[in-house]
Amino acid sequence: MSRALPPDTPVASSPDALEAPLRKAQPCLWTNPACQAAPAPGALGPAEVQAAAQRFERAAGLLAKVFPELAASAGRVASPLRRTAHLQRALGLDEEAGALWLKCDHLLPVAGSVKARGALHEVLELAERLALAHGLIAPGGDLSALAEAPARALFGRHEVAVGSTGNLGMGVGLIARALGFRARVHMSRDAKAWKKARLRAHGVEVLEHAGDYARAVQAGRTAAAQDPLCHFVDDEQSRSLLLGYSAAAGELQAQLGAAGVVVDAEHPLFVYLPCGVGGAPGGITLGLRQCFGAHVHCFFAEPVQAPCMLLQLRAGLGADRSVYDIGLTNRTEADGLAVAQASRLAAGLMHERLAGAYTVDDARLLCDLVRAHDAEGLRLEPSAAAALSGPLCLTSSVAGCAWLDAHGLSAHLAQTTHIAWTTGGALLPDAEFDAFVQRGRALLAAEHQGEPHASV
Ligand SMILES: *Cc1c(COP(=O)(O)O)cnc(C)c1O
Repeated sequence: MSRALPPDTPVASSPDALEAPLRKAQPCLWTNPACQAAPAPGALGPAEVQAAAQRFERAAGLLAKVFPELAASAGRVASPLRRTAHLQRALGLDEEAGALWLKCDHLLPVAGSVKARGALHEVLELAERLALAHGLIAPGGDLSALAEAPARALFGRHEVAVGSTGNLGMGVGLIARALGFRARVHMSRDAKAWKKARLRAHGVEVLEHAGDYARAVQAGRTAAAQDPLCHFVDDEQSRSLLLGYSAAAGELQAQLGAAGVVVDAEHPLFVYLPCGVGGAPGGITLGLRQCFGAHVHCFFAEPVQAPCMLLQLRAGLGADRSVYDIGLTNRTEADGLAVAQASRLAAGLMHERLAGAYTVDDARLLCDLVRAHDAEGLRLEPSAAAALSGPLCLTSSVAGCAWLDAHGLSAHLAQTTHIAWTTGGALLPDAEFDAFVQRGRALLAAEHQGEPHASV
């Protein structure tokens, strides 16, 4: 038996019904009453999403030159879409509840996570802007010349900086270095040691700060503001990052088409996206709502100790909300999702576009990480495993079933496509991954013996 939510999970029947489970860090599902079939135009529109996709196309030749691992795909940055019937069974999702697919961003080249999309786009946009200003390329043209000596000499005088818990720093640092920029990553002191070591091995300067992710971002922002030759990739505010993620939507649409998967009113699409600050899942949701309109329903997955986007959207956009406000710790094994306060940019865009959000505890993350490994041979990090409990959470919880009924979706469940977006894991060192698997197996064994999850 594997249930996303215990049978006694409170129902979101009134706005306040979620207050207690959220405070107690219990898994829950929130559905968004403000979500619209036709949302009002937001801060970023279709033209900007399209421009990001076109930038990736112009950069293909450059990327194939600069990254050996992109030579095989001719510089195209893309991840596989996989039908995962074995994992569907292991997760306990009935055939009548639809079909489970994974969008495997944990296999994305260069960064081994969804961050490759945002980081590549922002560093490419910066490089293009600098090269244009120095007359090294023509507007709207191919970017291959950015691999040549004059461009590299120019980039070597500039620095790219970022504040990060890990994966964004990894993406931005490695990509900036590959194009010839100097790179500096501000991390919280408790960020994983292997990530710091790997960045340093690639010539990235790593600065460590006390406090959480937001403190590292603030420290980086302040330092960068004093240096005109430094570009700061701002995870909490960047439009370029968010647009880089949005380009994934067109990629998925083409893959679904090639696989013969129909998306329409009778064949709805559900997408489950792990959420930290909200840029990656927000950008992808923005793009998906443009591609599929009202037929796609996006849900964010957040740790029980760090449901920052759920809290923000549930409260409305009037005032900033932090997970610390309700006594949560922001501590989780899902380090990519350990964010106390959501991005205002992402929250504003999601207000009318996001179907809902659910929370997952660390025990569930580790169990699902093992299930994905055993059923499909996947190597996910805990953050990515947060996507996997989404389909069951929606289709078997009282709150989820009520929402499906209210939106006329229950009747189409058997023809539903569920896509869990597995956002990272490929770069995890063996020892790290094996340790997660070991802990997950112990939890699963205890679960089979009927014990409740002990502390992780
Ligand atoms: C960063 C990250 C996310 C979430 O992206 P945000 O832009 O922070 O919301 C999800 N999964 C993984 C593995 C990540 O590294």
